[in-house]
Amino acid sequence: MATAKKTVSKKVVAKSAKSGKVTAKSVKGGSASGRKPAAKKATASANGGKKSAKSTSSKARKVLVRSNIPVEKKLKALFDLQEIDSKIDSIRTVRGELPLEVSDLEDEIEGLATRVTNFKDEMDGVEEKITNKKLEIKESKSIIKKYEKQQGNARNNREFGSLAKEIEFQNLNMQVAEKKIGEFKVGMESKSEVIDSAKKDLKERKSDLKHKKKELDEIVAETEKEEKKLSRKSTDAEKYIEDRLLIAYKRVRLNAKNGLAVVSIERNSCGGCFNRIPPQRQLDIRLHKKIIVCEHCGRILVDPEIASVQL
Ligand SMILES: [Zn+2]
Repeated sequence: MATAKKTVSKKVVAKSAKSGKVTAKSVKGGSASGRKPAAKKATASANGGKKSAKSTSSKARKVLVRSNIPVEKKLKALFDLQEIDSKIDSIRTVRGELPLEVSDLEDEIEGLATRVTNFKDEMDGVEEKITNKKLEIKESKSIIKKYEKQQGNARNNREFGSLAKEIEFQNLNMQVAEKKIGEFKVGMESKSEVIDSAKKDLKERKSDLKHKKKELDEIVAETEKEEKKLSRKSTDAEKYIEDRLLIAYKRVRLNAKNGLAVVSIERNSCGGCFNRIPPQRQLDIRLHKKIIVCEHCGRILVDPEIASVQL
């Protein structure tokens, strides 16, 4: 059965698709729209079964139109398709880079916020140290008071002297603590300057991010509209090209770095891989009678005049 379908579809669709399923659908649709060759389509649709009943007449129209298209128009359609698809590619590239910029900014903001939090934690730690030093001073003061009182009751010079030494020691302790507090305070001041500048950076980045996001949203909306328009055009151009050719076009485009599957002859060479094209081949390309691909890179070759052909 599959072979029967294939034979029929080959006749109807000429060079078109190899898949039995697709051609069966198209053929069935064709019979619905009442175009030739009716007899063969009827057989095919009978074979097609339930699945083919879903086929649309537009698809059939597309295939029928394709089978009668002169090569020159196919070449022009391929040329147009390439231009449209290249435009879509560049839109996607531009749009693709914007989210990266936004996510870079988001990362930067997160880093800055972490820095601010860490600084604040450090400040809290220093404040605690100052509090502890202040407590030490308070303690020394009360010890000194206690010793001074004991000095008043000292029984001899030796006891008095040893208390005096203790008092001196506590005084020294207090001096050291005061000095430390002073150092901590200086440290905190410079740290608070750093925090302030980090906070300022953070604020600026956040505002940058807001603008970038807005810009991105606008560009996405704008380019999506443009992309949809181009996609419709691309689909229109595809109607002139049979599946086999379209599949080849898409495959080459996928593998080519710049997404080019249709290229012009440039300085006697392939515009894609820059290998020389023999003169006879160049002549054939200019005649627009055959679809000619580059023997080195497989790209479809056209001459610049193809641009002026009317579809
Ligand atoms: Zn080439």
